[in-house]
Order: sequence, then structure tokens, then C-alpha cells
Amino acid sequence: MSYAKALRCRKCGQEYPVQPLNLCQFCLSPLEVSYDYKAMAGVISREQIAAGPHSMWRYRELLPVANGEVDLGTGFTPLVKADNLGRELGLDQLYIKNDCLNPTYSFKDRPVSVAITKAQEFGFDTVACASTGNLAASVAAHAAKANIKAYVFVPADVEAGKLVGTAIYNPVLLTVDGSYDDVNRLCAGVAQKYRWGFININLRPYYAEGSKTLGYEVAEQLGWRAPDCAIAAAASGLMFTRIWKGMQELAMLRLIGAVNTHMYVAQAAGSAPIVNAFEAGSLHVHPVKPDTIARSIAIGNPADGYDALMVARQSGGGAAAATDDETIAGMKLLAQTEGIFAEAAGGVVIGALKKLAASGVIKRHELTVAFITGAGPRTQEIVADAVQPIAIQPTLEALEEALNIPV
Ligand SMILES: [Zn+2]
Repeated sequence: MSYAKALRCRKCGQEYPVQPLNLCQFCLSPLEVSYDYKAMAGVISREQIAAGPHSMWRYRELLPVANGEVDLGTGFTPLVKADNLGRELGLDQLYIKNDCLNPTYSFKDRPVSVAITKAQEFGFDTVACASTGNLAASVAAHAAKANIKAYVFVPADVEAGKLVGTAIYNPVLLTVDGSYDDVNRLCAGVAQKYRWGFININLRPYYAEGSKTLGYEVAEQLGWRAPDCAIAAAASGLMFTRIWKGMQELAMLRLIGAVNTHMYVAQAAGSAPIVNAFEAGSLHVHPVKPDTIARSIAIGNPADGYDALMVARQSGGGAAAATDDETIAGMKLLAQTEGIFAEAAGGVVIGALKKLAASGVIKRHELTVAFITGAGPRTQEIVADAVQPIAIQPTLEALEEALNIPV
């Protein structure tokens, strides 16, 4: 059974039955799944969750699905104590939530697992999505598992590794001559015309809920508590808001204490509309034209930008941007201290965290979780300059000479 009882408009509060719909028909604001928290309280316990599968589906009672799920084994990824990186940044209690280790190598498997499950419940035989690359791969993989047809739309300049990483699952792959924001606009029109389950359009309220599991897992892995600080990259801003919502729900259900986490948004300097708004003290997220190597988060007009901004402000958190150089340095630092090869979005998080720690905004003693949400190997051309091998002949002498080992 599901405790999801309705879709509710975030702005005017109008409620709708659970259905494939993402915008309020009165005020055009986003709809959000609302739950019967009263019925949940007392039923959902730490013990029950701990006895569940080692995947995001251990939290199934907190997700808007009935029975069964389309699952590739997503979630319950490691929360790593990052002592080496912490020493570099001046943070005594730094943890990395390593969500590179999902089936298609990014956190997107969480929202997609919920959305495709819901697409099946609604009876769709076709799903679709607009993507900067990671979502495309995840949707294509889950559609393959669910035996349903997938149409994925990506900007034509998407990285080669992400194209292959999507095409391998054999969706209908469409490369669109334009930016992600152009792709998104096209898909809004497509979604109106065809009866498809559009993962990030008419299924968006359900899709959104999958990312709450990042918040649940971190709290559980910390021994049922929320961290002092959390930092995550924002593209549309949706995941960032859902990490927060997940922790709030656990507190509401008394599975953890009060959440006093300061939430920090990280964006690429070349695509930082939310950071810009935060720094200007503005309530308006003005669209920008993205120009960054961190393509997976290059969204100039973030659909949930306002909500992400509000979470950062109301939680007493903040925002910081990383330039392309700082992003590459962040990727290398994370790999060379913790053995984690993240994509550029992860480099943005580390670059932004470095600034926030250096300026004393995030304090040395605070328990801080950095969310690393996509793996690096599919976009390894960004750090190709790291390859500086020592070329030798296959002899011991050649080795010792090359390494300057005295004989
Ligand atoms: Zn409304």
C-alpha cells in the first residue's frame, strides 16, 4: 500500500487525485505528493527500515508507490568518513555520500526508479525524458528492465561517454540542436501532444520523491541523526530540496531528532543562477546562459531554483560557486584524497566546499556531508591531463633508471 494520498499545489494548496500531472490547473505551480503522515507515524520504525533491503527500497513506505518496483539495485550507497579530504579542507568531521555507486553511476537512479515504477502503475507503455545525460542513461536502463519503450532527448553537444552510456540500453535517442533549456521547452510541447509518461514532466511529482532517499540514508548511516551541514550541487534544484524534505520527514515521524542542518547549494560559476540570487539577497532566480564544463548541472533556468534558494536561506545555510579550474581541482583532490572519481558536478561540490570551509562559513567542528552524485569515468576527457605516465622498456634496468633508483 501507499501512504500517498494526493497531489497538492505548493502555492495555492489545491489538491488533486494521484495521477500523472505536474502543474496546478489553477495557478500553474508545481504539484507535490502529500502523504498521510498520521497513518505513517507509529507504523514506520527504525527497526522496520533496518530490516529492509540494502537499497533505496528499504524506505518504500515513505515513497509514493503501491506494490512492486522497477529496481536495478539503487541506493544505500556508502557514506564515507573522508579524513584525508577533511584534513586538506580543515574539516574534522567530513563525510562523502558516494552516490557514484548507483547502477547507472548517478543519483538519478533514485528518482527514476520511483518514476518508472509509477509509470507502470499508471499503465504507460512509453516513457520519455529531457536530460543533460545522466537522467537519459538512467531512464533508458530502467525502461529496459521494465520492458517499456523510452524516448530520451539530450542536447546535441552532450559528452560522448554519456551518449554511449545511454544508447547501450537501446532507447530512442534524440539529440537536439540546442541547450538543455531548449530541450526542456521542446519536451514540454511533446508531453502535451503525446500520452507518454514523461519522467521529468507529468511524472515529476513522483520522480522528485525518489531523491528523498538521499536524506533518509545519510540520517540512518549517521546513526539516525541529521548532519550539521550538507552541501550538494544544484541543477534544477530539485534534488537539493528533496534531501532536506527527506530529513524533515524523518523528524516529523520521530525517527530522528530536530533537523538543524545548514544546507549549502553548490553551482558551477558559469551556471549559477541560484548562487547569484543567494549572494544578492534576492528572492528571484534570474535565468542565465550556462557556460561550464559541468554539463550535468548546466541548467540556466532551474525549475526548482526558488525552492532550493528558500531551503538554503531558511536552513541558515548558504551557496557557493566553483569556476571550471576550481572544479577540475576539486575532482582531482577528491580522487587523490578519497579514491573517488566523480564527474565535474562533484568537483563543483568540492570546490564550493573548499571556499565555504576556508572562509569559516562551514566550521571545522561541524559534521558535514558532501553529496557526490555522479561518477567521473563517462566524462573523463575533462581531466585527461592527469595522464602523465612514465614510459619504459620491459626491463628492470629501464624501470630503475626511469625512477632514479640508485643501483
Ligand atoms: Zn495552485
